[in-house]
Amino acid sequence: MDYEAVIGLETHVQLKTLSKMWCGCANEYGAPPNTNVCPVCLGLPGVLPVANEEALRLTALTGMLLNCHVARHARFDRKNYFYPDVPKNYQITQLAHPSTEEGYVEFEFEEDIAKVRITRAHLEEDVGKSFHFDRHSGVDYNRAGVPLLEIVSEPDIRSADMAYAYLNALVNILTYGKVSDCDMEKGMVRCDVNVSVRPKGQTELGAKIEIKNMNTFSGVRRAINYEVDRQIRTLTNGESLTQETRRWDDIGGITETMRTKEDAHDYRYFPDPDLMPFEPNDEWMASVAEQVMELPLARKRRFISDYSLPPGDAEVFVNDVALGDYFEPIAKASKSPKAVANWVINNLRAKLAESNTDIEDLKFEPEGINELIRIVESGKISSKIAQEVFSEMFESGKSPGATVDEKDLAQVSDTGAIDSFCDQAIAENPKSAGDFRAGKKAALNFLKGQVMKLSQGKANPNLVGEILEKKLSN
Ligand code: ADP
Ligand code: MG
Ligand code: ZN
Repeated sequence: MDYEAVIGLETHVQLKTLSKMWCGCANEYGAPPNTNVCPVCLGLPGVLPVANEEALRLTALTGMLLNCHVARHARFDRKNYFYPDVPKNYQITQLAHPSTEEGYVEFEFEEDIAKVRITRAHLEEDVGKSFHFDRHSGVDYNRAGVPLLEIVSEPDIRSADMAYAYLNALVNILTYGKVSDCDMEKGMVRCDVNVSVRPKGQTELGAKIEIKNMNTFSGVRRAINYEVDRQIRTLTNGESLTQETRRWDDIGGITETMRTKEDAHDYRYFPDPDLMPFEPNDEWMASVAEQVMELPLARKRRFISDYSLPPGDAEVFVNDVALGDYFEPIAKASKSPKAVANWVINNLRAKLAESNTDIEDLKFEPEGINELIRIVESGKISSKIAQEVFSEMFESGKSPGATVDEKDLAQVSDTGAIDSFCDQAIAENPKSAGDFRAGKKAALNFLKGQVMKLSQGKANPNLVGEILEKKLSN
């Protein structure tokens, strides 16, 4: 029997705020343990939380970027459980009235556009981190109360590779929106992976296995591949699967049972009486909407269609937003946007990296690139000389026209001058000349190269070819 995998992801993303969700402690990575803490995030009796507006704003912005409905009435609930890393003995989250729900993400996958629906994206707080030593354990509460966004997908994902592509697309969008730095190494993105399999064609979902707390995307991909195989094998053997939570052993490359449905917690959720519902007004919603920018996929499609760029070039301008923003106005003013892309990607980008320069600090005017392209197209300079002119422009800010005149770099199209260089090249290389006359067409390239050398790269190469050929066929 043929099976298909069904996968849904719950992704936790740390929001990029200066302070924590309910107090003024810094939202900062790497500080010494328990230095970014206060009575509020330590859950001491008698304290009251105050919601961080920036976190609410980033949540609404994410909702808009993920095509979600942004709630005009959102609420916070307490999820109760007893564990050392939750100092209050409950975690504040959003259950019945999340900030945003019902959206989707589109991304490129296997030469096509895939779409994964988003069930909801709700705000919650992070908890502390436990450490286990030889004789004792410790908890660092620096992370307790840090704002997290939990983004829950519908079970629309059908393979490990698709999950991987979805996660990358999500991280791209969130980084674009400056919602989160999404630094995996700092644990800013973690996800719970839900996997089931079912016979192809069946609409009913199979028993769901949840793999908790994955913190690398490659781990997610491996865990799904393992789990799909394991589940299909189990069913093929005639055994059945029941809902359970499993843990991924990255070194062993396997998943193992953590808890079954029977030990599922009852979190006794209820609305947090210390926090008012959040009911943003029109003005607030409009101010968030103003910050919605073009998404990576839309930008890529636009660069391809507006400037006839190959996908690879468009990709460069999607990944390096500043470079793409620099390219656009120049391309708009040009008849050959592809040539502009070549200069920007092949030459400018390399120079910027080489000299460790920011694109804002360029010495030359952006129009210089179009001027350079026009000079090359007119035949006034060769593309080789153009490189030299570009370097000069990059270093001194001088316009290409000025450099060509000053350094006398204009291509020699004067037939008389080229004529004598050709005669000289033929005289000095009788063997190549003979070869060409005997039918070895490739010998012409060598002679052409000699003429270019004699002219210090300034001879018009097309003219050189024509003249040489004429002379040799006489
Ligand atoms: P729970 O209440 O256990 O958290 P949810 O129904 O809220 O479960 O779903 C949690 C995540 O699991 C979502 O991302 C959802 O898409 C996914 N999911 C639900 N059922 C299945 C299934 N049978 N197979 C794979 N993923 C599933
Ligand atoms: Mg869940
Ligand atoms: Zn605090």
